Amino acid sequence: MTEGKKVGTLYIVVPCYNEEEALEASAKSLLGKLGELIGKEMISSKSRIVFVDDGSKDKTWSIIEALYEKHESIIGLRFAHNRGHQNAILAGMMYAKDFCDFTITIDADLQQDINAMELFIEEYYAGNEIVYGVRNSRNTDSFFKKFSATLFYKTMHFLGCNIYENSADYRLMSSKALDALSEYAEVNLFLRGIIPDIGLKTSVVHFDVFPRMQGESKYSLSKMVTLAADGITSFSIKPIRMVFTMGVLALLVGFIMIIHVFYEHYFGTTVSGWSSILVSIWLLGGAILLSLGIIGEYVGRSYMETKKRPRYYFWDVLSREEKDE
Ligand code: UDP
Ligand code: MG
Repeated sequence: MTEGKKVGTLYIVVPCYNEEEALEASAKSLLGKLGELIGKEMISSKSRIVFVDDGSKDKTWSIIEALYEKHESIIGLRFAHNRGHQNAILAGMMYAKDFCDFTITIDADLQQDINAMELFIEEYYAGNEIVYGVRNSRNTDSFFKKFSATLFYKTMHFLGCNIYENSADYRLMSSKALDALSEYAEVNLFLRGIIPDIGLKTSVVHFDVFPRMQGESKYSLSKMVTLAADGITSFSIKPIRMVFTMGVLALLVGFIMIIHVFYEHYFGTTVSGWSSILVSIWLLGGAILLSLGIIGEYVGRSYMETKKRPRYYFWDVLSREEKDE
């Protein structure tokens, strides 16, 4: 597949947050895979693995430092703070884009089958700029994760955001796609939504997911909720429209109520009505609070965007690369 063509340079980007248990084993597998791909002449010998330490509080960074000392193909980037998985991936890709022809992002626990990398690379050589990884099944996930993921993707589709169901952040991006991605300046990052927005020629690779071997999931419930809220608010203003529709409906009901009240006043018994008032108060109060909450989400996020704060800040960079080589 690479005959007559220049062999591309691959940078594998690995976000790591408190991964001291998993990192050594993962690095070993990744280095093995890199060597194998170089041996098969699918990628150039200048290919690298970029570990992005997302402000870990354990020994993750010292493990990365040791790996860097030992292996020429390792690069380490360290955030000053925990900025989240999406920022860690982005930082790794943005760093890599000046040196490589394409990147593959993969989680540090290697739950995603690294043997799918050949398939990704073949798709790249077939002319695709972005290759999405789509998981074969969610059998290894807990019931809660499966349920929340299905609910999330259904909601996203309903709101009109065009994302691949069960797509993971296991993905190949060419340097052209990375250049396009670098133009997206938003602070609330939801890469699975932004990347399909880039366009370019894309394709899909299916891969298996294994249970996590070492350590525990670093995606806490609150991190998952934030990611879902980022996804929804950065791609759809439908929730605000729904609030508007709700307001219109409430007004209509209000008009009907006026007629009803007049009728009761002149022809009925006016003493009753306690229950309807109470029901209205609660229903309307609930609707108003809900609406305010939804609007608040957007206002809050607009506020965060207007500040244009940096998405991340590097504490340390371990690399042998020169920018203009
Ligand atoms: N991760 C990160 N920052 C965070 C949380 C997670 O960089 O704040 C990384 C983590 O180290 C791993 C990847 O994101 O490489 C996916 O996390 P995890 O495997 O814990 O999530 P799960 O597979 O349970 O969804
Ligand atoms: Mg995982």
